[in-house]
Amino acid sequence: MSADHQATLIDGKAVAAQIRAQVAARAAALAERGVRVGLAAVLVGDNPASHTYVRMKRKACAEVGIESFYHALPKDISQAELEALIDSLNARSDVHGILVQLPLPAHLDEQRILSLISLAKDVDGFHPLNIGRLAMKGREPDFLPATPAGVIRLLEAYGAPFTGADAVVLGRSNIVGMPCALLLTKRDCTVTICHSRSRDLPQIVRRADILVAAVGRPHMVQGDWIKPGAFVIDVGTNRISDQSAKDGSRLVGDVDFEAAQRVAGAITPVPGGVGPMTIAMLLENTVTAAERSLQ
Ligand code: NDP
Repeated sequence: MSADHQATLIDGKAVAAQIRAQVAARAAALAERGVRVGLAAVLVGDNPASHTYVRMKRKACAEVGIESFYHALPKDISQAELEALIDSLNARSDVHGILVQLPLPAHLDEQRILSLISLAKDVDGFHPLNIGRLAMKGREPDFLPATPAGVIRLLEAYGAPFTGADAVVLGRSNIVGMPCALLLTKRDCTVTICHSRSRDLPQIVRRADILVAAVGRPHMVQGDWIKPGAFVIDVGTNRISDQSAKDGSRLVGDVDFEAAQRVAGAITPVPGGVGPMTIAMLLENTVTAAERSLQ
């Protein structure tokens, strides 16, 4: 790499805007056929970050012509009450997608709640059957989880060479790391999954033609871990203090962006990379669910 090398910036906002425009057109076509696309958002408790995410998702719905039904529930709601709500949303014909904002409070059985969501309305793709199908050769889930689907779409949009590429995924969570690894495997990458017990991360990451960082540790991935020319997708969203910022803090990823962009071939910024894609993919899944409801 020359001293003044700059990686291509992977513009998640721009790719997401294209997807949202397509979703808006599909929602308008459904409206002409008398179907108003509807997404139910279920939020339990008062976690400020969860409130922010749900607010952003509802605003995005409004912008593309999807109606959102908001269910804000007290943090001490019982398992039975929440299950009854999911049952009622499953039965409603004006609700095409159901989103339960995670994490749920500890007294609730998250897996059971997710498995109660009708497969046809599982627009977050977290139903165990959808995740299971993702892991099976020759099977496809009804819906892909939004963040991992957004990661793949960004790589596609910028021409990442999937077949035979060495891909490294940092993180093995149910909602990001593991489904990303499964999707990259489906795209014929050779995938290495790393986690908190992995040894010698720098050495493993240096092999990556495609790197997905989903750990939640600010700037953990150093510039000299990056293979020259690699595609780097930074899912991490970490708030760090910054006295020069208006509210005294700012968002950074898991990758040291300044250093990595001097080595990588293409890289996502934080914010403006994966975040906008997550919402766009949720909207796309919801309009797909509504179209399928007519078939
Ligand atoms: P989790 O906390 O569920 O998972 C983190 C993963 O990172 C775990 O597998 C953990 O390993 C691994 N890990 C933790 N520390 C290290 C370390 N030092 N070295 C290697 N691996 C480590 O987080 P999520 O998957 O939910 O989220 C990851 C990040 O992505 C967060 O910053 C989150 O805010 C962000 N995010 C962003 C979204 C977006 O739309 N932009 C959407 C969702 C998440 P182990 O399994 O061993 O504990």
